[in-house]
Amino acid sequence: MSPQIDEKVEPIFQEVLKRNPGEVEFHQAVREVLESLGPVLVKHPEFAERKIIERICEPERQIIFRVPWQDDGGNVHINRGFRVEFNSSLGPFKGGLRFHPSVYLGIIKFLGFEQIFKNSLTGLPIGGGKGGSDFDPKGKSDNEIMRFCQSFMTELYRHLGEHTDVPAGDIGVGGREIGYMFGQYKRITNRYEPGVLTGKGLDWGGSLVRTEATGYGATFFVDAMLKVRKESFDGKVCTVSGSGNVAIYTIEKIHQLGGKCISCSDSNGVIYHEKGLDLNLIKQLKEVERRRIEDYAKYHKDAKYIPNGKIWDIPCQVAMPSATQNEINGKDAATLVKNGCIAVGEGANMPTTPEGVKVFLEANIAYGPGKAANAGGVATSALEMQQNACRDAWTFEYTEQRLAQIMKNIHDTCYQTAEEYGTPGNYVNGANIAGFIKVAQAMVAHGLI
Ligand code: NDP
Repeated sequence: MSPQIDEKVEPIFQEVLKRNPGEVEFHQAVREVLESLGPVLVKHPEFAERKIIERICEPERQIIFRVPWQDDGGNVHINRGFRVEFNSSLGPFKGGLRFHPSVYLGIIKFLGFEQIFKNSLTGLPIGGGKGGSDFDPKGKSDNEIMRFCQSFMTELYRHLGEHTDVPAGDIGVGGREIGYMFGQYKRITNRYEPGVLTGKGLDWGGSLVRTEATGYGATFFVDAMLKVRKESFDGKVCTVSGSGNVAIYTIEKIHQLGGKCISCSDSNGVIYHEKGLDLNLIKQLKEVERRRIEDYAKYHKDAKYIPNGKIWDIPCQVAMPSATQNEINGKDAATLVKNGCIAVGEGANMPTTPEGVKVFLEANIAYGPGKAANAGGVATSALEMQQNACRDAWTFEYTEQRLAQIMKNIHDTCYQTAEEYGTPGNYVNGANIAGFIKVAQAMVAHGLI
């Protein structure tokens, strides 16, 4: 059974279910936050009086639009574009764009909702939003990707601005796509406005460490959780799901901190390499040649490719899900715990189902939920915005140091808040409560808007 929602909060959740039918991922994300908020309303009756929770669950603005584009054969395709501007109490809407065939309003709203609290936890002046499209970039030529990005931006540009809404990447959107969208924004508006998108190339307004930031940040977060338990990455066997941006730089930082990653994956299968993953090969296959992870085994005869394999069945001490939502269910979580896993840090957004989260919390392992553990990406996006605003570019070392400090602060805030609210070691409560209170206080200050 999942944890209960406080009886004062339950009617709000029921209303969310009623007003947003069929959006199951959004329901899941809302429920998970609302479960933590009962004790907050006791300490802060003004939040209930001003209907802060009800208002936070309703996006400020939702934009849905048609994205027509032509493939290389001249055939016309129609996709759907989304931007959900969820909450701007702490700053301009900020959050990535996801291009994946599974995208629909419920996915974008779950991501946008999580983003509000994540961005609050960073301590930086950014509100929460998310966007994307049901476009599938897999198998598309470079020209097709460009035409799609240009069409997408032809509608989206009117909603953006460095003080309004600043998108970045997510699944299916990396440096290449950000480049095409930035180019189209510049062409339509006749303005060179680097502050309007983050994750840009280094020669045209990007920040060092942004590419690495989510993976590095998640690893710093796990490192901080391990330190609380007088442990470290040194010598630990680790598993990282996915083989995209977040997974690659999670593996890199784990290796730098002395851990050994033995497996990664994509949506077709799992690579298991007992002696430790060859990260240079993964980067070459995924970042340069855009190939499938299956090909890894062609270069390392002692590595095994398991088609449709379950990565969580492979014993590890630290697990870092870095692919997609709901990739660890209750059974997977139980398998991880049984096999000796002592820490889980979520690079992906909401990768663990509610049943899985319950298993981790009951087993009292170190469990860092995505909205805290993967906040390093958006935090470094905010650092990119700072550099853009003062037309400056920081060094790798300085930017990484800022990221490390931000992740330490997020960890400590979650840890202390969990303790203050009577649930020591529960980073889920710590992240939800600390993230919520800051946004709620700003909403109270801004009046009924
Ligand atoms: P990428 O597109 O770079 O990589 C995604 C990876 O996950 C790919 O290897 C992909 O495999 C795999 N994957 C996607 N869907 C599935 C699935 N259903 N089952 C198994 N594997 C799957 O995306 P990112 O690395 O940027 O994002 C990964 C996660 O991290 C997402 O949850 C995202 O929201 C989250 N995140 C990303 C941030 C960022 O800065 N990029 C910031 C914070 C969170 P395949 O190629 O087969 O699809």
